[in-house]
Amino acid sequence: MKKILVTGAMGQIGSELVSTLRKQYGASNVVGSDLWQKDAEDGPFEMVDVTDEKAIYEAAKKHNVDTIMHLAALLSAKAEAAPRLAWDLNMGGLMNALEVARELDLQFFTPSSIGAFGPTTPKQKTPQETIMRPTTMYGVNKVAGELLCDYYYYRYGVDTRGVRYPGLISYVTPPGGGTTDYAVEIYYEAVKNKQYTSYIAAGTYMDMMYMPDALNAIIQLMEADPDKLVHRNAYNISAISAAPEDFAEAIRKHIPAFKLAYEVDSVRQQIAESWPDHLDSTAAAEEWGFKAAYDIDRVTADMLGKLQE
Ligand code: NAD
Repeated sequence: MKKILVTGAMGQIGSELVSTLRKQYGASNVVGSDLWQKDAEDGPFEMVDVTDEKAIYEAAKKHNVDTIMHLAALLSAKAEAAPRLAWDLNMGGLMNALEVARELDLQFFTPSSIGAFGPTTPKQKTPQETIMRPTTMYGVNKVAGELLCDYYYYRYGVDTRGVRYPGLISYVTPPGGGTTDYAVEIYYEAVKNKQYTSYIAAGTYMDMMYMPDALNAIIQLMEADPDKLVHRNAYNISAISAAPEDFAEAIRKHIPAFKLAYEVDSVRQQIAESWPDHLDSTAAAEEWGFKAAYDIDRVTADMLGKLQE
């Protein structure tokens, strides 16, 4: 039985990950933590600032956890607005959490991102191992983070594992300031106003994934046989490669009057153009059985259904 500490648990991923893990492993075995708390939780929760290593250590020790899932971070668009803060939080927080995992001999998960790639990376079927020269602070943090996690595995034997997430689509908690947030906003606006103005230009392809697939991936990877894991930090995973007009087309199957307009935001557009169109997730499929269940039509039907409830 696992006992897990989740950092950044109030965020887009953490809020759903904690409830999914609690269903899987029991509420008392999953400790949420963040700088703030929305509601009283149905399980243990600690206020933990990840820039404070002692605070992470004390929460892990108090609850006798065997795993840290480290999610606290500043996302791509916000990191571009505050690069120094991004470095301190994304690198400092990760280093602190890894140190606690080393000291207490814990299993460790942290997500990397498609943002770890850059403009010189092959855009189609982006290989597991390829050129990684990102041009954003977020991307620099993610590449360095992957290497740091590998380092803790090779140097100290910490069981570090990670995935390179695409943009994640969900309806429970709003996204936290990433470049792919439009793929969530478009559904909210479709239901509310039957129209959406995209800050990403037509024809800009990026990988996307529905939250249930993203959460399953964490559980599957963390339960995988360690002997089969060659790449560890971090696996390419992908489900949908889409541009704004693809979402509009899928939405029109349910809301025929839906209109898509464009007002491109140059900062986020530049970030999007530096990222791959579509990752090759063969290594994840071969080494731990990754397979996404949701394509764009299934995501659209589910998102619109949930938001109309
Ligand atoms: P989010 O922005 O929604 O949530 C981040 C959480 O971290 C917030 O609840 C915030 O309060 C918390 N936090 C911020 N500073 C903190 C600190 N000093 N100490 C403790 N907590 C702090 O982010 P998310 O979308 O849930 O992303 C989680 C992880 O997944 C990040 O590493 C992110 O880079 C990665 N990721 C996310 C996506 C996506 O589309 N959501 C895609 C790729 C990778």
